[in-house]
Amino acid sequence: MSNETTTSRSPAAEAVDGRILPALTSLQDADLTGWLSRRGHPRYRTDQIRRWIVERRAGSFSDMTDLPRELRTDLEQAFRFSTLGIVSHQTARDRTEKLLLQCADGELVESVLMRDPGRRTVCISTQVGCAMGCVFCASGLQGLRRSLAASEIIDQVLALNRLLEEDERITNVVVMGIGEPLANYDALLDTLTFLTSRFGLGARRITVSTVGLPARMRQFASLKRPYNLAVSLHAPTDALRTQIVPVNRGTGIQDILAAADRYFYETGRRVTYEYVLLRGVNDLPVHARQLADLLSGRNAHVNLIPMNRVTELTLAAPDHQATDRFRSVLQRRGIPVTVRKRRGADIDAACGQLRLSRTPARNAASAGR
Ligand code: SF4
Repeated sequence: MSNETTTSRSPAAEAVDGRILPALTSLQDADLTGWLSRRGHPRYRTDQIRRWIVERRAGSFSDMTDLPRELRTDLEQAFRFSTLGIVSHQTARDRTEKLLLQCADGELVESVLMRDPGRRTVCISTQVGCAMGCVFCASGLQGLRRSLAASEIIDQVLALNRLLEEDERITNVVVMGIGEPLANYDALLDTLTFLTSRFGLGARRITVSTVGLPARMRQFASLKRPYNLAVSLHAPTDALRTQIVPVNRGTGIQDILAAADRYFYETGRRVTYEYVLLRGVNDLPVHARQLADLLSGRNAHVNLIPMNRVTELTLAAPDHQATDRFRSVLQRRGIPVTVRKRRGADIDAACGQLRLSRTPARNAASAGR
């Protein structure tokens, strides 16, 4: 049985004299050090504060007990500890946890923590809603409302980090929640910089998923950083893909594959192709053969995802036999393939189930500019 807790506490709403304060996580170390030194505090306070945020998982400035009291008060007056308030917290039967988080302007996002032996993976969102309109996905049902700031993406990781037991650590981050990460490129890069420099995660532990925006993929490749790239393909022909992923109309599969090849060439990282299986739409052996034709000779891995239920949609997952048949066709052609494990489906935390909001945006936590 899943359980849910809700809270009206909203650090996102912290304000002084009606002003919304800048977010602590939006500051570069040099800026924080400058702010501290203007108040006569030594440089090492920056490291202390950063340690409290990341390693010691402080939930507020007042938790930072080895900082002088007046400094804690100054910090409270000057910065928001988090840009996000927790609206609800659900735990699934498989111990997957999902947070519904509220931004200062009342917008809502969802983020997920998954537990596997030796792995703690968080899945984070980059936008409020999504403009891509994939037909199987709850996230885009109401379109795009806005992109998140880097601090709002980083604060999801920190909020999930605080859910862990003392002996647990986040080992992997997947940027696969609500939104198209490459359509919020600058905030994505700032988030990745935070994760690799201050949060201590290796680039190989981070996966960025994209619907396939070739120009941005090439730009991302030019960084030559070994992040994992997952391309949501979902169909082997342009005609079918345009039905499932409407944004394909302006790109086309060949351009996406060329950009993915470039990514492999620049970073040395094998690209994963995600393929949501939709019963009677893209799950037939002929589709598997066409997919194998596209990918054979490429350094590719296919992740099959039987569609997760979305209440508003009539589309459904194929049965186990059809999924196995599809997988076998790819295997016989020598394409590495896995079928994604369903995680947190009983709390709508699985792939494609995260959504803009199911809770009225402005009644759970009183954030607002
Ligand atoms: S699958 Fe990803 S890109 Fe497509 S609508 Fe959902 S969130 Fe957007």
